[in-house]
Amino acid sequence: MKAIRVHKYGGAEALTYEEIPLPEPKAGEARVKIEASGLNYIDVYHRTGLYPTQTPFTLGTEAAGVVDAVGEGVTEVKKGDRVAYAMILGAYAEYAVVPAARLVPVPANIDAKSAAALMLQGMTAHYLTHSTYALKKGETALIHAAAGGVGLLLIQIAKQRGANVIGTVSTEAKAQLAKEAGADAVILYTQTDFVPEVKKITDGRGVHVVYDSVGQTTFDKSLDCLRLRGYMVLFGQSSGPVPPFNLGTLAAKGSLFLTRPTLVHYAMDRAELLERANDLFNWTAAGKLKSRIDKTFPLAQAAEAHRQLEGRKTTGKVILLP
Ligand code: NDP
Repeated sequence: MKAIRVHKYGGAEALTYEEIPLPEPKAGEARVKIEASGLNYIDVYHRTGLYPTQTPFTLGTEAAGVVDAVGEGVTEVKKGDRVAYAMILGAYAEYAVVPAARLVPVPANIDAKSAAALMLQGMTAHYLTHSTYALKKGETALIHAAAGGVGLLLIQIAKQRGANVIGTVSTEAKAQLAKEAGADAVILYTQTDFVPEVKKITDGRGVHVVYDSVGQTTFDKSLDCLRLRGYMVLFGQSSGPVPPFNLGTLAAKGSLFLTRPTLVHYAMDRAELLERANDLFNWTAAGKLKSRIDKTFPLAQAAEAHRQLEGRKTTGKVILLP
């Protein structure tokens, strides 16, 4: 089968399109014939070695497709089932072997691209708004990179919960998308200092929570946007990692809370995984949640997809087709 492999950490040129043996499912595993693989920023961290993995490896952590073989003792799925998954390395490929307990059944009214678009970024938007900081009606959230894959879903789900949303983006075109997704206000953070803007919008009080996936370039200022005892949710670092932090700053800036969550710990058991995924599928089917598939690339062109994601040229979801 064909797959995109990394032999040595590096830039987009580190991705190689290769023929590798078809994997066989062992006990408790299922093999998925992949129809759509999702591109996520975590793939960049795996490629560069920011999140170290044993090389060589097949990149990608999210896909949707059809079960084509199962190992011994598998009860969760059977051959022919439409499924999707996230957080298992090896999704930039024609087939992937996945622990069966990590597979989510995909309803008939959700196509493979939408399923792949919802698993990682959608479940992230779900846990951030429902569990890490459970947004309440009337509260205000600041969402950075609001027109990104996670960003557009996060806006919609935050609005569903009755929150006010302030988004930040780098371009007018992205601002338009964030507004269409429901953002009440959008700031072009590459042109304007977002701290005074947020203060102005919130009558000087600041926001209840910041969902910050940009990291290095936004972290310090994000703390200045919070109201007393507000929640700083740092969940990524698309601009680079946040340097070591003096915890005393949390007291000085208003007894703030700080957390650095990751999806793995919010979808650990199968019941939680299915609950979050089913919410996303149901909202999509009911027209309450829209995933924006921005671009699709043939699997062989994964390197170009990476260049565009890192170059801030994408909005919403990017899909790779094997
Ligand atoms: P996005 O589609 O959001 O792409 C990244 C966006 O970040 C860009 O489009 C850009 O938006 C913004 N950005 C700001 N500064 C930079 C920079 N210097 N270089 C590149 N991009 C920059 O990606 P994803 O939706 O896949 O992921 C968003 C973030 O969420 C990532 O940091 C990812 O690691 C994190 N994440 C965390 C999870 C968790 O559980 N902790 C799970 C899933 C994702 P703009 O041009 O508007 O600034």
